[in-house]
Amino acid sequence: MRLSDPITDIFRLTDQQKAALSRLGVRVVRDLLFHFPFRYEAGGEGTSIAGLVAGQEVTLVGTLEKLETKKSWKRKIPVSEGLLKDATGKIKIRWFNQPYIAKMYTNGTLVKAVGKVSGSAGKEYLANPELERLSATDVGLFKPEQKSLEKKSGLPGAGDPRTFSENSSAEGLFAVYPESRGTTSLWVRHALERLFAGGVLNEVEDPIPTEVLKRYNLPTLKTALVWVHTPQNLRDAEAARKRFAFEEVFFIQLERGRERAAQLKEKSFVVKTPDAQVAEFTNAFPFKETAAQKRAIKALLDDMSSGRPMSRLLEGDVGSGKTAVAATAAYATVNTRPEGQNFGTLQVAYMAPTEILAKQHFESFIKYFEKFPINIGLITGSGCFKFPSKVRRGEATTISRTQLLKWVANGEIPVVIGTHALIQKSVQFKHLALVIIDEQHRFGTGQRRALAKKEVQLPHLLSMTATPIPRTLALTIYGDLDLTLLDEMPPGRKQIITELVKPGERGDAYTLMRRELKAGRQAYVICPRIDEPDPAKAFALQAKSVKAEAKRLKKDIFPEYEIGILHSKMKAGEKDKTMQKFANHEIDILVATSVVEVGVNVPNATMIFIEGAERFGLAQLHQLRGRVVRSNHQAYCFVCPETRGEKTLARLKALTQAKNGFELAEMDLMQRGPGELGGRAQWGISDIGMEALKNLKLVEAARSEALTLVQKDSDLAKHPLLKEALTARTQTTHYE
Ligand code: ADP
Ligand code: MG
Repeated sequence: MRLSDPITDIFRLTDQQKAALSRLGVRVVRDLLFHFPFRYEAGGEGTSIAGLVAGQEVTLVGTLEKLETKKSWKRKIPVSEGLLKDATGKIKIRWFNQPYIAKMYTNGTLVKAVGKVSGSAGKEYLANPELERLSATDVGLFKPEQKSLEKKSGLPGAGDPRTFSENSSAEGLFAVYPESRGTTSLWVRHALERLFAGGVLNEVEDPIPTEVLKRYNLPTLKTALVWVHTPQNLRDAEAARKRFAFEEVFFIQLERGRERAAQLKEKSFVVKTPDAQVAEFTNAFPFKETAAQKRAIKALLDDMSSGRPMSRLLEGDVGSGKTAVAATAAYATVNTRPEGQNFGTLQVAYMAPTEILAKQHFESFIKYFEKFPINIGLITGSGCFKFPSKVRRGEATTISRTQLLKWVANGEIPVVIGTHALIQKSVQFKHLALVIIDEQHRFGTGQRRALAKKEVQLPHLLSMTATPIPRTLALTIYGDLDLTLLDEMPPGRKQIITELVKPGERGDAYTLMRRELKAGRQAYVICPRIDEPDPAKAFALQAKSVKAEAKRLKKDIFPEYEIGILHSKMKAGEKDKTMQKFANHEIDILVATSVVEVGVNVPNATMIFIEGAERFGLAQLHQLRGRVVRSNHQAYCFVCPETRGEKTLARLKALTQAKNGFELAEMDLMQRGPGELGGRAQWGISDIGMEALKNLKLVEAARSEALTLVQKDSDLAKHPLLKEALTARTQTTHYE
């Protein structure tokens, strides 16, 4: 048996099973080995669901299924219902008067439920139980002796996990796998048993160097595979998961580290503008730079004068003034002549995620460059512009796309602003020396080179983001970039007032909003995020809730104001039009999904009301709130959860206290349970990997091991297995 053997060669499968496995991404033997359980069930431990009788007070562990909310038509109160399932059976759960419960949890969530069994024989149900989310290895942790072992060390698998095997229960643990219609955990367990019995583990070679495993007491790949699928005890399962978590971070770090090393070997444009000239530029700002902006500018200019390509990420809350920093880097670039020439200038490409943002950057750049006139081009799907106009010097003018592209190609227009897609697709530069990117999480060397086309030198890269992410995540996914934080807001900005609005008590908030609307301000109303595995369905549900909320506000609350809507099902053109109307104040209140997250600047919008606030992460709420901190008027953020639970309120309270987005991002990561971190879609990291990010020591260990290895063996010639594993990884994951 080979790891690359198709599953269909080994097992006799029905068409339905084949389809299910392919949906799960399981095609060859190796895939099945790396199809990890997302939790474990303890055989015969604790109370099992089978055999419960009414009147019992119980603590049960199981997964939720079939959640829904109904109106009980006898008593006219909402009832949330669902099933709790464990290895032995199912029991119905009912929550009276808590309609949000069914919405707060998703089917398949593993929970601990504490409550009383009600009903009659054969119709037992659990009434109003308290729920607590559990993680994959939580089962059985209620036993105090295991809990204390669990916390022994922060490092992955420290202490030989094997010494804890005395904890193993005779029954062992059952692995529970992500299922798809047509497969069951039982099938996967049997299939793996057969693979193990067939000697598949003899085929497995560990890509991680032994000395690294030893240093952190991590199990070998063979051991870890056995432990992750068929653990005798939770200690083993945990050790195995830590190994895979380490492995994932280690691999990402190796990729980034190699990319980094390759970049450092490249040459780039030497951008040297005398300090005095730079000072002239920054002194012309209508404000004084913050200390953080000064530090950032210095870091960028140092990088760009070194002759090596800059790769720097500028991370700062919305409103921290990233554009001024970017403009200064652009200024230094266009002030530099191409090597060996005494005419012309180096060029800058500034890429934004949306057209509206591209236009806004264009306008900002025009202002920043007011006293230092240069040609600036804007390329959008609906037309192209150039500043200044030949006829009216202080204004921009439309020009044809062909003309714009020609002037960029011959170097007459040194700064071009547009969306990622447009610039990457169509623009040829003469001497592209600096690429500025807004809110795109990764931009690889290949993309950089492609953009510069025939240039032998790699352009400098300045990537900017307002997405606050925890340090461990930044260290991991941006391992190839230098990080600069703008952790200071411009002075004099009024602190945003954030209010926690209890559900059903919106009155005061609306009164305040009306007062501000009367004074000529505008507001965003954000509808709850809806978690749905199928994005099409999620979009449809969101659209529905946005429409309904807009209708309600118009009818019951703000009939005298113009209300607009914005959601993901709208076409790009329609979205742009609505945003434009909002920007022109033809709309007073914009009811939207979180799509408005992307940094659109409407300074007159000073209020944001966030419904269903507990469904957003703290960092995301913070980012949403950032929409309204752009003017000198007092800004307000109303955070309204659907539930009144103490935990929810306490969590949201952090928003009124945290100093900045970074702090909130850390809190967010720690508070969220596994499976709630959503790494796959956003960052290309698995659930196991995301869990690892809660552990700074693990991330730092993986990072330093990876960097040391890259330093000693940058093309991994001495580590062929590692090289192979990395290649396989890059082929299956797409970061961009
Ligand atoms: P970001 O892109 O980081 O969200 P911007 O660059 O758009 O922030 O800046 C937000 C606003 O703050 C702009 O109107 C800008 O002119 C202003 N601004 C930037 N830096 C400062 C500063 N040091 N002092 C005062 N205002 C500033
Ligand atoms: Mg910005």
